[in-house]
Amino acid sequence: MLLIFGFRTRLRTVLEGVFHCPRCQQDRPFARKQARRWFTLFFLPVIPLKVAGEFIECQTCQGRFTDAVLDTPTTPVLAESMDKALEIIGATLRGEYAADHTVITGWVAPLAESMSVQGKEHMVSAATAQALDQGAMTTDRQAVVDTVGHALGLTDAHIRGIVSTVEASRPAPPA
Ligand SMILES: [Zn+2]
Repeated sequence: MLLIFGFRTRLRTVLEGVFHCPRCQQDRPFARKQARRWFTLFFLPVIPLKVAGEFIECQTCQGRFTDAVLDTPTTPVLAESMDKALEIIGATLRGEYAADHTVITGWVAPLAESMSVQGKEHMVSAATAQALDQGAMTTDRQAVVDTVGHALGLTDAHIRGIVSTVEASRPAPPA
């Protein structure tokens, strides 16, 4: 009897979830696929051999990526982090974090990479609005807004522009 044997690679899904696909530029379902070599007998895989590799596959565009893509936050995660960052900014403006701006930087800076310029301007606008809700733009309040802008990688001139725009759109602060 003639034995027909050989090798083939089979893919198995080891994990599924939602990620931000760098190719689709949107949240998509993904599968982590594990490629394993098998020893085959009469074309049937009978003995599992070593794992040849793993990759993340977008279930929409079928793009394949390394695990690093999972580090990019999905939209809901990003939105939640941004809400939290704005809470921290508000608390700092109310003096709940003393003058310690490292708390703001710690929350805001990690978001910068995933945010568009418009998103960053929106966050600085929101911080400015929170500052102005408390009264005039004092040096302390301006420092908080500056910290937010710097954590997002914006220049001083850019931050000034955003603050001016917000100030101009509001009634004069109470004396
Ligand atoms: Zn995709």
